Amino acid sequence: MADTPIARNFAARWNDARRNERSAGQAPIVVIKGGVEGEAPARRPRGEARDEVSIHQLPVPVLQLNAARLKALFALSKARGNAEDLLAKAMWHGGLPQAGLFVADANELAASLLQASSSDDLTGPAGYLFAASPQTVARLMRAWFDGEKNFSEPMTMRSVKGALLDVKLSVTFPPADSLEPLLVVLQDMTGQRQPDEHEVDPLHAARLSTLGRLATSIAHEVNQPLAAIVTDCETTMLHLSRDEPNLAKLRELAARMAASAHRASEIVKRVRGMASQSNTRVALDLNDIVVDGLSFVRNETDTHAICVSVACEPGLPAFLGDRIQMQQVVVNLLVNAIEAAVCSAKRPRRIEIATCLTGQRIQFSIHDSGDGIPTADLGRIFDRFYTTKPDGVGVGLSICRSIIHDHGGDMNATNADDGGALFRFSLLVAETERDR
Ligand code: ADP
Repeated sequence: MADTPIARNFAARWNDARRNERSAGQAPIVVIKGGVEGEAPARRPRGEARDEVSIHQLPVPVLQLNAARLKALFALSKARGNAEDLLAKAMWHGGLPQAGLFVADANELAASLLQASSSDDLTGPAGYLFAASPQTVARLMRAWFDGEKNFSEPMTMRSVKGALLDVKLSVTFPPADSLEPLLVVLQDMTGQRQPDEHEVDPLHAARLSTLGRLATSIAHEVNQPLAAIVTDCETTMLHLSRDEPNLAKLRELAARMAASAHRASEIVKRVRGMASQSNTRVALDLNDIVVDGLSFVRNETDTHAICVSVACEPGLPAFLGDRIQMQQVVVNLLVNAIEAAVCSAKRPRRIEIATCLTGQRIQFSIHDSGDGIPTADLGRIFDRFYTTKPDGVGVGLSICRSIIHDHGGDMNATNADDGGALFRFSLLVAETERDR
């Protein structure tokens, strides 16, 4: 947005604010929402010349939100007398901000703060701005609805790459009768806050969410060896109650119970490993990661009668990576493939996994018998918060891709010729393995 009436109007407000800021000795973030924090900006005398700039010339991260739909909805619900109801029911759950607020423009400083490659990446539904702080948007809406002129509070915002950022959000609401956008100024507060001991890193949070999706399966898997131990224990008691217990049989039962207990403990260890924080680079075998990943979903594939075929090239050279993060990628792709196969009417349900070495790259592919990805959506399937599932979050694939990129690899999605989605990633062979 180079030079529109909206930009000019905002720039005038900005310049007013800068003047106030200079006299009040405040930071720009305070000024943008109306002079000294909490006070209305001083009005420029009528007729005074404006030295106008667009938001792209402003020295702080700024976004413009188009809220015409939300405003119309507020007006309609106020007229119908059910506005409070509307606020309570929909807004608090994030539905209204998602549906009625759009980022119309943003400057490059906002793009850089939110780790986007360009300000264009920030335009579209504004729900992502508030995804990590739903209560902030609730208070923001409340303030606007109550006729406040501006709103400001510190909040956590998720960057395009999934990092959690501490920012101060300051919003200037347009006058009730105007079509101007909401102006949002962000101030980077990173480093100004003591680290929170409960802070969760986004990769870890996504991993926990995937484990949550597999909770029933994991519980079932742990339950199997435990149930076997109970049965063996009961049989042991029966044998012991005999006058002459069969010692050989008892030894066999004791050994079986120990093996079952060991199995249960292995499952718990595996889940605890996946639930832990992790970022270390060691030499890894992609085939091992596939085996680990499959062990997480075995119960799901059994329950839904999905035939999984695995064609792993033996003796693959190692790559350098974080075991838990790589497991996260494979488990995520598997869970999506299972969900796609289960949702499709196509039978039989299949998932085909393959690994191979091509030149200096190790390749992984997973193909399912689902209905595939609609062609129109292929370009945005890795976007954050893109989901077509009623209970989906839409971060799994974006996190998978950023893990693979962090490992120096590539990841893509397409539809296979015979239908179903085909996801592939490739990683560079570790340098120490290249001359093998
Ligand atoms: P979520 O699973 O929470 O929706 P993801 O980022 O893992 O989040 O996936 C985003 C979207 O990509 C899914 O909602 C779905 O529309 C699409 N998708 C992912 N995997 C597949 C697949 N194997 N087949 C078809 N569509 C898929």
